Amino acid sequence: MQITEKQLAQVNDRIKALVKSGSFYGKKLEEAGITEVNSPEDFLKLPFSEKKDLRDAYPLGLMTAPEEEIVRIHSSSGTTGKPVIIPYTAKDVDDWGEMFKRCYEVAGITNKDRIHITPGYGLWTAGIGFQNGCEKLGAMAIPMGPGNTDKQLEMMVNLGSTVLCSTSSYALLLTEEIEKRGIKDQIKLKKGVIGSERWSDKMRQRIHEGLGIELYDIYGLTEIYGPGIGINCEYNTGMHIWDDYLYLEIIDPETLQPVADGEEGEIVITTLVKEGAPLIRYRTHDLSRIIPGSCPCGRSYPRIDVIKGRTDDMMKIKGVNVFPSQIEEVLAQFPEISSEYQIRISHLDGKDTMRIYVETNGSVDFDDLAKRIAEKVKSRIGFTPIVKVVEIGVLPRSMKKTARVIDERFD
Ligand code: ZN
Repeated sequence: MQITEKQLAQVNDRIKALVKSGSFYGKKLEEAGITEVNSPEDFLKLPFSEKKDLRDAYPLGLMTAPEEEIVRIHSSSGTTGKPVIIPYTAKDVDDWGEMFKRCYEVAGITNKDRIHITPGYGLWTAGIGFQNGCEKLGAMAIPMGPGNTDKQLEMMVNLGSTVLCSTSSYALLLTEEIEKRGIKDQIKLKKGVIGSERWSDKMRQRIHEGLGIELYDIYGLTEIYGPGIGINCEYNTGMHIWDDYLYLEIIDPETLQPVADGEEGEIVITTLVKEGAPLIRYRTHDLSRIIPGSCPCGRSYPRIDVIKGRTDDMMKIKGVNVFPSQIEEVLAQFPEISSEYQIRISHLDGKDTMRIYVETNGSVDFDDLAKRIAEKVKSRIGFTPIVKVVEIGVLPRSMKKTARVIDERFD
């Protein structure tokens, strides 16, 4: 997917603004002697930017517009080290809202919907992003934020929420609670807009059937506005990405070279019109691929596949590279287990061991199931894991993102 003339012109505008502001990337460009790009080949010579650069710019080193034009900051959670602070101008906030409104529209959501928003409000971009798009659309926002499942369900029933916005983990938790309480007939939900956490087809199926709703994957990250930069349409052929605001590349994370459309790699994003903190060739570490061809919906926005994981999800076990998504694909072949699982990796007596916990109900022979799963996993990744089968409901559920891989080797 080559960069267009128009996008190149937009990149040049951003380069000028970055150099003028002397922000971290402006300095990087100045050092590299780059003042503009005139062709797709030139564009590919631009240096990448990384989360580390953004962290080093803490607190406000990314600010590219004059301070009097900055109306807001957001921050990524930053589990390690300093957080990343992203400044927004009024136009950035507005552009983000427009993109998010478009996401809702693609999902068939209208100003008659009542949108139940469970992602958190605060420094991060989650709740407020869903809210901003909802208000632009003219729908009714129900700004719940996370937690307090009793209150969530009470409001959902009494207000007749028609759209659920949440992480997949929380959507599953709500599905199970609604079933447990036998209140499904009082729930009016029709659609779910689910944040871009990686989730399995099995979990999608579970929520789709449990709540009887259509599900949409929304993509985004704090560094690039927040959630709302792309969503799948009714044909569910990948997420359309708003290329009038962003240019997206897929690269090989090892060689850093672009891969052909259709091939898997790391998503790299350039913001085309962002003022507060433009980013050029930002490495997201999210793994996906561009879906070639056109979508039956007729929209020309390019599409990416659901996020397969992150480059840093890869686990090295017994010298073998393993992605959680590979284990997930194997588990998907066993209809008798639930969508939840946990992988624990430890190091005992000089050897790595991998334990996989799965859930099933009492009608299944646990030992036999464990053996069959272990065999299938071995044929996929090359070594035999220890599989532990437990009762449904035993593995932890979460209101945010569920930690499914626990590496005890580095504790
Ligand atoms: Zn489409």
